[in-house]
Amino acid sequence: MNEIKPPKKPLIYYYGIAFVLLILFNSLIMPFAEKHQIEEVSYNTFIQKTEDKDIGSVKIEDNEITFTDKDKSHVYRTGEMNDPDLVKRLAASGADFKNIPARQASPIENFFLNWILPILILWGIGSYVSGKMMNRMGGNAMTFGKANAKVYVKSKDGGITFADVAGEDEAKESLSEIVNYLHDPKKYQEIGASMPKGILLVGPPGTGKTMLAKAVAGESHVPFFAMSGSEFVEMFVGLGASKVRDLFKQAKEKAPCIVFIDEIDAIGEKRSNQIGGNDEREQTLNQLLTEMDGFESNNGVVILAATNRPEALDPALTRPGRFDRRVPVELPDLKGREAILKVHAKKVKMDEDIDFNKIARMSSGASGAELANIINEGALRAVRENRQTVTQSDLEESIEVVIAGYQKKNAILTDKEKWTVAYHEIGHALVAAKQTNSAPVQKITIIPRTSGALGYTMQVEEGNHYLYTKEELENKIATCTGGRAAEEVVFGSISTGAANDIEQATKMARAMVTRYGMSDDFDMVALESVNNRYLGGDTSLICSAQTQTQIDKLVVTIVKKEHEKAKKILTDNREKLDELAKFLYERETITGEEFMNILEK
Ligand code: ADP
Repeated sequence: MNEIKPPKKPLIYYYGIAFVLLILFNSLIMPFAEKHQIEEVSYNTFIQKTEDKDIGSVKIEDNEITFTDKDKSHVYRTGEMNDPDLVKRLAASGADFKNIPARQASPIENFFLNWILPILILWGIGSYVSGKMMNRMGGNAMTFGKANAKVYVKSKDGGITFADVAGEDEAKESLSEIVNYLHDPKKYQEIGASMPKGILLVGPPGTGKTMLAKAVAGESHVPFFAMSGSEFVEMFVGLGASKVRDLFKQAKEKAPCIVFIDEIDAIGEKRSNQIGGNDEREQTLNQLLTEMDGFESNNGVVILAATNRPEALDPALTRPGRFDRRVPVELPDLKGREAILKVHAKKVKMDEDIDFNKIARMSSGASGAELANIINEGALRAVRENRQTVTQSDLEESIEVVIAGYQKKNAILTDKEKWTVAYHEIGHALVAAKQTNSAPVQKITIIPRTSGALGYTMQVEEGNHYLYTKEELENKIATCTGGRAAEEVVFGSISTGAANDIEQATKMARAMVTRYGMSDDFDMVALESVNNRYLGGDTSLICSAQTQTQIDKLVVTIVKKEHEKAKKILTDNREKLDELAKFLYERETITGEEFMNILEK
């Protein structure tokens, strides 16, 4: 896709400026320059020159006399004197002389210089200053209320197509209907079917929503108008609405085409009836609703919008007839991740024997954008180390960089701290391994990272996991507490290193009670609702204060039970714990294979 830039200022604008400059040059600079070639002399010199007959032509003006010498090589000027013999003397000298009456500027010239020119200058300064101010406010002095959408048309090399978007097969399938429609709207019109007017792409950030929208345009060879929801939000009430009007006007002119509004929640958020609500945003939303009602569903304008907060959208926007189709764009699964890695790997020089499946398994939970970043970090690492191609270890290291940050080169842990971190990380892994009897981790390192993590455990994911049983969740909680449990078992003291584990264990235990109905006390009663599924998933309680107290107690009981279990596992396997921690302390890294070898020895 090639972006089409909006037209620049009209030519007349530049002609106007050039004209004003020319006038200024003529009326101010030229006379000044001319005067500087003329030599000022006294009246005596003038008389002397006439008497010597060393004089060529003479111009007598209002109050000055300009003359040349005989061979006209020099020009002189002197003031006019009340000299009655002047004419006689000049005639005797043989000069060629004339009297030039003072030039009167024409009324038009006077009008131009006294009125038009100052106005033009002031207007120029004014528009320059206000242009600067508008730019600072994010707009442009000349384009009040214009949409300024980025317009893309299909480029010769084809632009983005569905082939560039890896995985996301369900989303592509949904969208390919739109592509078919844009190719041949008649087929649909004949049977009386109308296309959805708006399609909402929902999913977590970086999963390829923008890419999919571009791919729809690329596949259907139609223009693509892209704008972000926040670009509509203006300081003055009504401006956003006029931008919406302008966008739809442009789109209708270019139909069939695709209008893409990214982050639509910026304007589409639920309207509130609070006093002092956001008038500008609500007007913009109203205008969008009106525009979507206003065009026929068969006129060839398809609106795609993307958001990570579908639940925050105004119901009027998501009702049938507006954004009536919702296409989920979820985080990629194992197969999807592998495909995305391969798509991005095509752009860099890779070793032949890269195991993409392994990389995909190591990066569970990563979004498409993060996977693209992993490949790029790998390439950067290869360049840093002066290699021509990217290797498997580049990619493995860059997963850690993307997830945990760079290695902190100068962080110095004391010996005691290093032992603590080693035991802590092995504690997690050992508890996990003893519960499932399989390799729980891909790799553990205790090299401090810039994210602040002192150790880092990379989990493996053998396949996709959609359901967890109660026992599995309990085991996970036990694994989380394993780090702290190891510190207790080995050192008899505890450190601050477990903050993140505590948070995770509590979250899981809480969800078991409030959302998954896994406690005897509350059975299958929902006590919490999830607000923001795609952005971290924060929750709010929907129960009485007494129930909250009871929930808290249950959560504590669950975590305590699992903590005790973890401590027991570690005490029972104390020898292995010591051996593994020593290995990790000495080498700073242990792979899943090495871990299992020591454990099963
Ligand atoms: P979103 O709009 O969902 O936040 P984008 O579409 O802007 O995400 O994706 C950001 C980047 O992530 C893309 O430019 C692309 O490099 C990469 N990406 C995300 N998903 C995919 C995918 N399914 N296939 C290939 N690349 C992807």
